[in-house]
Amino acid sequence: MEIRIQEAEPGHMPRPESDDTLGFGKYFTDHMFLMDYEKGTGWHNARIVPYGPISLDPAAVVLHYGQEVFEGAKAYRGQGDAIFLFRPEKNIERLNRSAARLCMPQLEAETIKQAYRELIRMDRDWIPRKMGTSLYIRPTMIATEAFLGVKPAIRYLFYIIIGPVGAYYPEGFKPTNIYVTTEYVRAVRGGVGEAKTSGNYAASLLAAEKAIAKGFTQVLWLDAVERRYVEEVGTSNIFFLLDGELITPPLTGSILPGVTRDSVIHLARSWGIRVSERQIGMDEVIRGIESGILKEVFGTGTAAVISPVGSFCYQEKNYTVAGGGTGELAQKLYDTLIGIQYGNLEDPFGWRVQIG
Ligand SMILES: *Cc1c(COP(=O)(O)O)cnc(C)c1O
Repeated sequence: MEIRIQEAEPGHMPRPESDDTLGFGKYFTDHMFLMDYEKGTGWHNARIVPYGPISLDPAAVVLHYGQEVFEGAKAYRGQGDAIFLFRPEKNIERLNRSAARLCMPQLEAETIKQAYRELIRMDRDWIPRKMGTSLYIRPTMIATEAFLGVKPAIRYLFYIIIGPVGAYYPEGFKPTNIYVTTEYVRAVRGGVGEAKTSGNYAASLLAAEKAIAKGFTQVLWLDAVERRYVEEVGTSNIFFLLDGELITPPLTGSILPGVTRDSVIHLARSWGIRVSERQIGMDEVIRGIESGILKEVFGTGTAAVISPVGSFCYQEKNYTVAGGGTGELAQKLYDTLIGIQYGNLEDPFGWRVQIG
């Protein structure tokens, strides 16, 4: 695919002061990738242009009916200035599954990979150097057709924006305290919970705001039908180390199939740990805490990699997980994943892709 390039003026976008003040989602690089889709024509007009606002018709379908999908991935700077991606094809497959669920067009994996390579190489000096920092990649597809009617649009914009992000836990892990909501649900089977689409996140805000107001870090989501089985924590998948078994809820349609989740399952199995994708109810979690057989709980996702859970509040009662610290397995998974991602450890599963 031919990508037209328009270079930004030097200093086009504000630079972070240092790798220590990056935070998350605050900085964007000088350039962005865009391409257009029209029914009948397909994807065309691929271009890399200076980062900046895009203009949309106020009747654009995305603004009214939420036809949008996105992804979240990272590029890592390794030794000798190598640039690595982590399992990029998994994110591209998921983007296409999300798009199919929202009746949006499919993307060619090769096109996306080429766009990643060219965009990231152009803005490679934006990739931070400090361990734990990275370049966040946000591919996004929106329905741009100006039409007020509930039907799939015939015109779309796909774009990729990238930006440096900080280490999630610059001073080591900080276990989270979690509010288990029985009032709200994130997603239902048969809905769009397994798609990375904007409405899921808008729908989660109120529960999270209420939990934060009560002093908690995040919400734990239960299944929408019985409000009993654990689904996810905030915008992460969740794992429980219970009586030697590593348990994560199965992908039955309401759960986002995380790339980190899949990687944790593979790593843990390769270490001889029994891993089960099965339902786990809050009653089992509480019994595990009370009897002491629940040793670890952690969330998994691209942003934080591994996020240990220190305590739960369930039905207005507080429960501390195994002393509230960071478990051994969470630490080992974190060290191994970032070791692979930054090129400091062997990559037994072939997950790392060097692009520069
Ligand atoms: C993105 C996301 C995850 C984590 O997926 P990764 O591929 O591991 O980053 C989990 N849950 C939700 C709701 C998400 O949006």
